[in-house]
Amino acid sequence: MTFKLMIPNTEGELQQELMDDEARILAGGTDLMVQMRSGKVAPTRVVSIKKLERLKEISDLGERIRIGAAVTYSELQRSHILQEKSPILLKAIRQIGSLQIRNRGTAVGNIANASPAGDAVLAMVLSEARVEIMGPKGERHESIESFIIGPGRTTLSTGEYIRAVVIEKTDDWQSLFIKVGQRNAMCISVASIGVLRKGKEVRLAFGSVAPVVVRAHKAERFFTREGIDGTKLGEFVERCVESISPIDDVRASSWYRRQVVRGELMKIFGHPDVGGTDVT
Ligand SMILES: Cc1cc2nc3c(=O)[nH]c(=O)nc-3n(C[C@H](O)[C@H](O)[C@H](O)COP(=O)(O)OP(=O)(O)OC[C@H]3O[C@@H](n4cnc5c(N)ncnc54)[C@H](O)[C@@H]3O)c2cc1C
Repeated sequence: MTFKLMIPNTEGELQQELMDDEARILAGGTDLMVQMRSGKVAPTRVVSIKKLERLKEISDLGERIRIGAAVTYSELQRSHILQEKSPILLKAIRQIGSLQIRNRGTAVGNIANASPAGDAVLAMVLSEARVEIMGPKGERHESIESFIIGPGRTTLSTGEYIRAVVIEKTDDWQSLFIKVGQRNAMCISVASIGVLRKGKEVRLAFGSVAPVVVRAHKAERFFTREGIDGTKLGEFVERCVESISPIDDVRASSWYRRQVVRGELMKIFGHPDVGGTDVT
């Protein structure tokens, strides 16, 4: 693999580099390097963002938190704002890779990589994240749900890059993040489930069970309208399962993935004491 490594000093220079269709941003490199080594991608220019200090900022915006594109998972874990205001993102990060991966990998890289198994993506979908995008036509903002359009696919066009992601503070919601994998550490999930709950309001998102991380909007509305007492619980869980479209792959069958989601939801919402959940 041969490529030119570019290390711009300003965002203006970064934008210039990205006008080349064959250029790719290097943040932590934990996805990009693996993909280049396997031949899945072969950029001629790799553009590092490590010298761009403004992309390393975490800012408190009042109701929201802005996370720059070069902020690593470990930096997020050490951030007081995150510790106090986004328990769901911290719970997801704790389950990501190893210490080495968290020291290099970024939450924005997780978004740009657009994997349906993205753990930080799942937490950010629940936090109604908005992606801040910079490009030749200026700045634009898009919800994370519409920004990721398929496995490895986003709405980014030539010359555009993600500058930051802005998430809602969710410290007044109860939160839960569950990752079901073939082993406890360093695994890509068979299914992942994230829940936020505040009284009659609930937000639910699922990973690894559809082409993208999905929010169960219909089931959420059902929960608020009908509650989950008695027979309603089964109906609620089936509405959640309707929002997913898993496939068979080397890690699990689609049937098994549906069963995992069904079983975990019954545990979470049916039996408050099971699984150590703090949602119900
Ligand atoms: C051993 C191992 C274990 C892992 N475990 C997990 C896990 O448990 N959960 C999980 O979700 N992921 C996991 N990953 C995947 C990876 O660590 C994450 O997706 C990480 O968040 C990627 O961030 P990065 O900064 O390393 O991205 P990079 O690899 O630098 O970039 C990823 C992609 O995004 C693009 N990109 C990066 N930043 C920008 C930007 N600002 N604007 C536009 N495009 C950009 C790059 O060009 C590239 O295409 C694992 C990876 C490895 C190697």
